[in-house]
Amino acid sequence: MTERTFSIIKPDATKRNLTGKVNAVIEDAGLRIVAQRRIQLSRAQAEKFYEIHKERPFFGELVDFMISAPVVVQVLEGENAVARYRDVMGATNPAQAADGTIRKLFAESVGENSVHGSDSAENAAIEIVQFFTDDQIVG
Ligand code: ADP
Ligand code: MG
Repeated sequence: MTERTFSIIKPDATKRNLTGKVNAVIEDAGLRIVAQRRIQLSRAQAEKFYEIHKERPFFGELVDFMISAPVVVQVLEGENAVARYRDVMGATNPAQAADGTIRKLFAESVGENSVHGSDSAENAAIEIVQFFTDDQIVG
């Protein structure tokens, strides 16, 4: 089943000029980048995006990190894109991420872990509309 997922290349990666290297891993995994934009998240945008984590102890740190430098927001398309991208990203904590995954290759810590990817098709749809209109996604 062809589906779409939402991705963010996080500040730790954009700051180190890793956008292209992250995109190469994404494309090598068979996922197509069908929309992409580099933006500076506002605090309000970051808080809304990570609303689900607002009671977690790391919420403040996470929002501060996500607005600390530009991010690249993306829509990825492919066969089982949501699960496929979670595989390609690797575990949240890079120390536990499998070889060849984006987080194993590039992440600095459990917080500064280079990429976000939607955890379900339902959340992908919710996240995509926060950053892209339909006409900005060219599949
Ligand atoms: P994932 O991004 O793998 O879906 P979560 O949804 O659990 O992980 O967490 C969202 C983000 O919050 C993580 O990607 C990471 O940036 C940050 N985060 C998660 N756990 C921690 C932690 N223990 N300490 C600091 N930051 C964390
Ligand atoms: Mg998550």
